[in-house]
Amino acid sequence: MIVGAGLAGLRAAVEATRAGKDVAVISKVHPLRSHSVAAQGGINAALGNAPDAGDDRWEDHAFDTVKGSDYLADQDAVDILTSRAPEAVYEMEHMGTVFSRFEDGRIAQRPFGGAGFPRTCYAADRTGHNLLHTLFEQAMGTNGTFYDEFFVTSLVVEEGRCVGCVAMDIATGGLQGFSAGAVLLATGGYGRIFNRSTNALINQGDGAALALGAGAPLKDMEFVQFHPTTLYGTNILITEGARGEGGQLFNSEGERFMVKYAPKAKDLAPRDIVARSIQTEVDEGRGFEGEYVHLDLTHLGAERIKERLPGIRQISMDFAGVDPVEAPMPVQPGQHYSMGGISVDNECATPIPGLYAAGEAACVSVHGANRLGGNSLLEAVVFGKVAGTTLGRDGGPGLAPDAVGAAVSSESERIASFLGRDTDTSMSGIREELKRTMFDGFGVYRTAEPMDAGLKKVRELRVQCSSASITAKAGPFNQALIRGLELEFMLLVAEAVAMGAVERRESRGSHSRKDFPDRDDEKFLHHTMVRMADGGLQLYTEQVRLGRFEVKERVY
Ligand SMILES: Cc1cc2nc3c(=O)[nH]c(=O)nc-3n(C[C@H](O)[C@H](O)[C@H](O)COP(=O)(O)OP(=O)(O)OC[C@H]3O[C@@H](n4cnc5c(N)ncnc54)[C@H](O)[C@@H]3O)c2cc1C
Repeated sequence: MIVGAGLAGLRAAVEATRAGKDVAVISKVHPLRSHSVAAQGGINAALGNAPDAGDDRWEDHAFDTVKGSDYLADQDAVDILTSRAPEAVYEMEHMGTVFSRFEDGRIAQRPFGGAGFPRTCYAADRTGHNLLHTLFEQAMGTNGTFYDEFFVTSLVVEEGRCVGCVAMDIATGGLQGFSAGAVLLATGGYGRIFNRSTNALINQGDGAALALGAGAPLKDMEFVQFHPTTLYGTNILITEGARGEGGQLFNSEGERFMVKYAPKAKDLAPRDIVARSIQTEVDEGRGFEGEYVHLDLTHLGAERIKERLPGIRQISMDFAGVDPVEAPMPVQPGQHYSMGGISVDNECATPIPGLYAAGEAACVSVHGANRLGGNSLLEAVVFGKVAGTTLGRDGGPGLAPDAVGAAVSSESERIASFLGRDTDTSMSGIREELKRTMFDGFGVYRTAEPMDAGLKKVRELRVQCSSASITAKAGPFNQALIRGLELEFMLLVAEAVAMGAVERRESRGSHSRKDFPDRDDEKFLHHTMVRMADGGLQLYTEQVRLGRFEVKERVY
């Protein structure tokens, strides 16, 4: 049973069916509407195709990834990610992905932030679209069963083992039990618990909440990536590929400010550093209208922009009224990626037998405190395949159909009582307040006071939510009900993020505290773990698995 039909879920489905397993894939939207489809800039692999750039090695990719992670990634997992990257890209190519090409016919690669080599393979600025369509085609060719527009409300655990899940058929509102020998969560990230997010509306952290409910721990939830360049006003992503192609950032004084913050890497420093630099410029009064900076591509010329960044140009014209061929685009940092997630080992297994996770929903961990651009599409396909292999080994027919049947009854009662509430407190009001609270308290820069207040607020909102109601009480396609159930997940996940952030009294990668500006390896070179205990969330720590790369200061 695979929950999620983005890149990770579909890659796993293809692999598990190859191993002869009977696979079902559940997705709350049509698979091609999964957030993977929106990925723009590319996927990393040390192919070394860039002309005149010398040789690239997977070990160099591993080093850049570990340094980018601010040394919080588990280095054995990074070895798997980077050493298997070339094979993963060629596999996608052979399945049908139409990558952009260099003149000599080889897969084109562009420079990306924090990478010592032009290592990012791309299909113009629509890489995710291309990859997801490829895997969808492949998955359609298997004998797997697809349950599109089914929303998983809970996992079923019997005697400490995950034995299935309960899902709502969104079209009818009916609940269905799924009994399975192995359940994979490939549900994507939790970006939408924040305001100003580049993520699809569906990325609410359902998987993380489902895992907590089943007794599995989450890891490093406080590490949330803020992308430096989202379009001012709508926060639609403007890919790092725009800077990879030579785009430059300017403040309102016409200064190319990245030269100050990262003298060597400049505009192509890792995302955490560029996002903080933009925020500092804006906070110190050198932004436009006190809100944004400029990303200038005009010097690249119309031809290059139209060929390499056609989607970006269209987005900028449609949503900001700016043609980047002629004028700079207004950009500001926005929430973009969830480094934290469901804690799994290198075979994608959680500590709960029968329960697995992969893709952005999981924390293996290969991104640590800060993910490099181009590494998450890679994670989704590499660890999606790993998960499929594991399911091929561990999967089988459902072991406890009775327990699943009982879970359907209790979920049905829970949802009936949810629908039966009739109060003045509205779910949508709580959602808006939650997103604002998270962005204000746990954004690009963090400090104790707003974080403490934010955590308190999240807990208050959880209490309010337990008595809030919706007006649409029944019927097919009851989106208000789905969004209400999602809100319960979001509040739980937000509390986990907030607790981890409050507890980590240092700055590392994306977690940047004004009151503790330095990294503190002595006290905090560990993973933050969170699990459900005695009805509440409980924090503990786990060691980081170091390896070939020594922990060093991170300069660019
Ligand atoms: C705008 C944008 C651009 C990006 N560009 C890049 C890039 O260029 N390079 C790169 O490496 N990374 C990029 N990323 C990140 C990358 O796209 C994602 O990390 C990756 O695609 C996640 O894939 P996934 O399969 O884990 O999850 P997703 O593609 O998010 O899929 C999640 C799936 O889970 C299902 N689901 C969730 N909850 C439930 C539930 N309760 N019940 C049933 N189904 C459920 C959804 O329906 C969906 O099918 C980008 C991200 C964004 C937002």
